[in-house]
Amino acid sequence: MIVAVASGKGGTGKTTIATSLALSLAVEQSPAPLFLDCDVEAPNAHLFLKPTFKQSEPVGILIPVVDEACCTHCGRCAEICQYHAIAVLGKKTLVFPQLCHGCGSCAALCPEKAIEEVPNKIGVVEHGTARDGIPFARGVLDVGEPMAVPIIRRLKNWFRPQPGQTVIVDVPPGTSCPVVAAVRGADFLLLVTEPTPFGLHDLRLAAQIARELEIPAGVVINRENGRFADLESFCEAEHLPILMRIPFERAIAEGIARGQALVEIRPEYQERFQEMFAQILAASQTMTTAREIIK
Ligand code: SF4
Ligand code: SF4
Repeated sequence: MIVAVASGKGGTGKTTIATSLALSLAVEQSPAPLFLDCDVEAPNAHLFLKPTFKQSEPVGILIPVVDEACCTHCGRCAEICQYHAIAVLGKKTLVFPQLCHGCGSCAALCPEKAIEEVPNKIGVVEHGTARDGIPFARGVLDVGEPMAVPIIRRLKNWFRPQPGQTVIVDVPPGTSCPVVAAVRGADFLLLVTEPTPFGLHDLRLAAQIARELEIPAGVVINRENGRFADLESFCEAEHLPILMRIPFERAIAEGIARGQALVEIRPEYQERFQEMFAQILAASQTMTTAREIIK
């Protein structure tokens, strides 16, 4: 069972929910759930789960290097590159590594075989063991590097769960390619939102990803300070169950700022997270059965 925890924007408490879900399940599951921090631009789950890392591996993509002695400056590589990562200016062929996606098209199509592909490091993946025996793996994108997707893909392929082991994926914020890369393959998408117009706007976008990828989803409303009618109506209309409501409380906010997990600040939430996971299991099984009937 893979549960991806996402939010349409940063700062909604996505990592708070993901880490407390992992800690709550670690008490009742063996092996403990595997935690994957795919928020590679700003990973912060380690602040709450406090892993000790045992292994680290660089992640790179292959970028082109042009041999000017062989290049005829025909411009074929620049034409084929949809990311504008290579350009021919007069008698010079320039590569812009920051724009390159490492697709290899330019090297494959260069008529003079003037392009060699060389590895370019963009970040690392690392794993270890966190609190309560939780296996923890994360990707970290190097500062200034824009390509989060190769790191997320590498992380998901590098550290695989044992048979039957629950996986909690901390998804990057937003709704762009890194989010889709992190969410792909999940059995359930837990959408964390706030009861505000901005929160609802971003929830709409995140819910669209769940719809498009056909992943069953549910909502956690964080920092609730009274009901927000528009959010309630949206969830009802979209058949998105509200699986948990966490009130706005100063003590919770202060504890999180100190690096405490929600279930440490409020131990009574452990049971609520376990119950929520039971609901997630039931919802995803219903969806699987419905898909089988449709087939
Ligand atoms: S396709 Fe090859 S030969 Fe043509 S400009 Fe690019 S590197 Fe040079
Ligand atoms: S490898 Fe792909 S993305 Fe990079 S410069 Fe060549 S064609 Fe463009």
